[in-house]
Amino acid sequence: MPETLRNLIGGRWTEPPPSNTIESVNPARASDVLARVPRSSEAEVDAAVDAARRAFDAWRLTPAPRRGEVLIRAGELLARRKEDLGRLVTREMGKVLKEGLGDVQEAIDMAFYMAGEGRRLSGETVPSELPDKDAKSVRVPVGVCALITPWNFPVAIPAWKIFPALVCGNTVVFKPSSLTPVCATRLVEILVEAGLPPGVLNLVHGTGSEAGGALVSHAGIDAVSFTGSCDTGEGIEQACGALHRSVSTEMGGKNAIVVMDDADLDLAVEGAIWGGFGTSGQRCTAAARIVVHEKVCDSFLEKFAGRAKALRLGDGLDPSTDVGPVVSQEQMNKVLDYIEIGRKEGARLLCGGKRKVSGSLAEGWFIEPTVFADVDPKMRIAREEIFGPVVAVIRARDLAHAIEIVNGTKYGLSSAIYTRDVNKSAIAERDMDTGLVYVNASTIGAEIQLPFGGTKGSGSGPREAGGRGGALDFFTKWKVIYRDFSGRLQKAQIDRG
Ligand code: NAP
Repeated sequence: MPETLRNLIGGRWTEPPPSNTIESVNPARASDVLARVPRSSEAEVDAAVDAARRAFDAWRLTPAPRRGEVLIRAGELLARRKEDLGRLVTREMGKVLKEGLGDVQEAIDMAFYMAGEGRRLSGETVPSELPDKDAKSVRVPVGVCALITPWNFPVAIPAWKIFPALVCGNTVVFKPSSLTPVCATRLVEILVEAGLPPGVLNLVHGTGSEAGGALVSHAGIDAVSFTGSCDTGEGIEQACGALHRSVSTEMGGKNAIVVMDDADLDLAVEGAIWGGFGTSGQRCTAAARIVVHEKVCDSFLEKFAGRAKALRLGDGLDPSTDVGPVVSQEQMNKVLDYIEIGRKEGARLLCGGKRKVSGSLAEGWFIEPTVFADVDPKMRIAREEIFGPVVAVIRARDLAHAIEIVNGTKYGLSSAIYTRDVNKSAIAERDMDTGLVYVNASTIGAEIQLPFGGTKGSGSGPREAGGRGGALDFFTKWKVIYRDFSGRLQKAQIDRG
């Protein structure tokens, strides 16, 4: 029996009207309905923003180390429930269990990391040019933050946004993906159990066009942090720009691995398999393009396609599964359309290319791991984000040509190079125009203690996660304070003694 999810508004879990719900469904088995979910309207969004606004003053005045302690307790609860939550991630969006557990681990790491920020959140103290005067900058919260998240990391990405927002003293209205509302609910329940006061975190379920749109343009919102597709993100950037509202967008990618002729080819194949087909290719950092030096391209293709063919498709909860389903029927159709486009564009299909419906897969959204060779960088399958288990292999003449191909899309999220030549690595690190660069490792696998995000069409605004230029720069604003304790009027730039 599917559970009925509720919104959390001002500390109260509120039932939706029974007629106005959507369903959350297991992508490996469409008859497995996990939950009925409120399809919230503007009225629920209004109530949630109002609750967050009312809770803001008390939360901003709560000492940051105390705010951090809530995150420590949340991290402990997440760790205790990691196995159950990991299984839920797999059941609700399809990734294989070890990746579902990794999704939860990222949230645990982020909880403890951001809890520590409660005791840092540092600004600067600098000398004043005048006597008996202090000069310093401090971080202050932004206010009420709207957080809008996708389905592909249904615990990790909400945690990446909610934890830093809270430790910085903001209050939150959270609108998760309508495809993964149960994971979102479990995370919010944990934060409530960890001691978050009512109204500090509000959860509004629903569709992007209704609840999401109402939230982004709501007059009571101070900042919007969004992760999702470029189409949606660009619309949100425009709406926020018109309202002079601070916005951070983390969007799509068309990430590439460069394999040079001196590379350890087996290692590169390993990285391309993991980057291309992990999470069924549904990671923003997925290795959708492999750019291979022409001298080793044929041997690479033989090994790579051989490995791709051998991957086992199945329910992610089955330990023998290598690749799970894609998230929804709509996503499956989009990926299949792209495979057709690739064929028509003249790319050579080496393996995969079809939906798999045999036996226990009949009820799910399974696509065979697909490899295209002889891909021209101008083809759509080499430029547009497919977000499925489809990899385009492109030949390059030399390093300069490979880098030109890497940089030749509108995206700039992640890139990688496999080479044993330190000079080639250094040139690639310098010239590949992406927010993340990996050397002798795949395009996926970012760690939470450094900023995460991309260049060009992959996002705008401060990055996510930790480190300089990371989430704290979005979830706080700077205030500069001059304190004159001389007891007389002192004029900067004029009183020079
Ligand atoms: P999406 O369709 O853009 O949806 C993302 C979120 O926005 C969902 O909560 C969605 O609600 C909501 N939304 C949709 N339309 C909206 C609107 N008009 N106003 C406000 N909110 C709206 O993306 P997705 O399919 O969930 O996620 C896949 C995309 O995310 C890929 O492009 C991937 O590259 C990107 N991604 C990027 C990163 C990164 O860090 N760069 C990380 C992960 C994923 P509904 O669920 O109801 O549609």
